[in-house]
Amino acid sequence: MTTAALIVAAGRGLRAEGDVPKQWRELAGRSVLAHTVDRFASCDQIVIVLHPDDMHRAAEFPACLCVPGGATRDASVRAGLEALTRRPPDRVLIHDAARPLVPHAVICRVLDALETAPGAAPALAVIDALWLGTDGVVSGTRDRSNLYRAQTPQGFQFPAILAAHRAHRGSAADDVEVARAAGLSVAIVAGDEANFKITGPEDFARAEERLRTQMDIRTGNGFDVHAFEPGDHVWLCGVKVPHSHGLKGHSDADVGMHAVTDAIYGALARGDIGQHFPPSDPQWKGAPSHIFLEHACALARELGFAITHVDCTLICERPKVGPHAASMRSEMARIMALDVDRVSVKATTSERLGFTGREEGIAAIATATLVKA
Ligand code: MG
Repeated sequence: MTTAALIVAAGRGLRAEGDVPKQWRELAGRSVLAHTVDRFASCDQIVIVLHPDDMHRAAEFPACLCVPGGATRDASVRAGLEALTRRPPDRVLIHDAARPLVPHAVICRVLDALETAPGAAPALAVIDALWLGTDGVVSGTRDRSNLYRAQTPQGFQFPAILAAHRAHRGSAADDVEVARAAGLSVAIVAGDEANFKITGPEDFARAEERLRTQMDIRTGNGFDVHAFEPGDHVWLCGVKVPHSHGLKGHSDADVGMHAVTDAIYGALARGDIGQHFPPSDPQWKGAPSHIFLEHACALARELGFAITHVDCTLICERPKVGPHAASMRSEMARIMALDVDRVSVKATTSERLGFTGREEGIAAIATATLVKA
């Protein structure tokens, strides 16, 4: 099953202001069209319909076939569909260039629906009341039940929509109208508010904001060492492990959990454990380290970040970590409210070299990855 994307970028829409059409305006450092094209990278082929005056910009899209559009949107889509007949796909997704933030999930829903329907398109149910207005005064109301706001991509079996466009006469609001005029049934799938169409200047600000936050991925590192002292167990990543020694520290000396906690603070650029829980403060004496980790997780949430992964390496000759690694992962996952497959705990020796090799203590390093939600 092959899929083509047909991106319609031939409009001259200047409503968004600026001296260039909106698909060429810059959004987070690249053109709107470049962002839109990226969203369809998993398609087998991409056709972009450009305004004839813009064909010199085709070189910006070396992986796409660029064709000149016509005087109307219908004519432009038709030009794109005809270009696809050289290597006909099974399915085609027809998308507006001015919707650069279409979520991957929306594209997947359209493709899933095409498994059983000749056409499928995303839409959002109308939830606001609908009025009729005359001269600035409400002159009536309209029933909003069964009304939808249409989005793109609108997906079709390629031969069916090609035939529908070839047969269509007159104008159409979108490709669903063309398909329906040819008797094709079009399934409605859930759209997304993020898939808005850039129309006015305020939409650029909204799109910039979304792109900026979508790309905000942080990584932080943490490193910690605790010395052995007399004792019969150590706490490592929230698990009590019997051992010939204990670990010395102001808290429970959970070296692994401290490294993970510092990695999260690092990703947030918010200091380290010592700053948030000063060792000089007696209230943290003997404290269980999950308090620190929970604090770092809460701070991440408060700053709008989701922790997507942590990786911790314990460095020691003994105790053996392997038999406890699964419990350590699940305990840290529980504290951080993460899936266990987003939490890694592993161990290494230092080949009997250095302080860890001489069994004077345990070291731990950790990396945390955070994404702005
Ligand atoms: Mg520590």
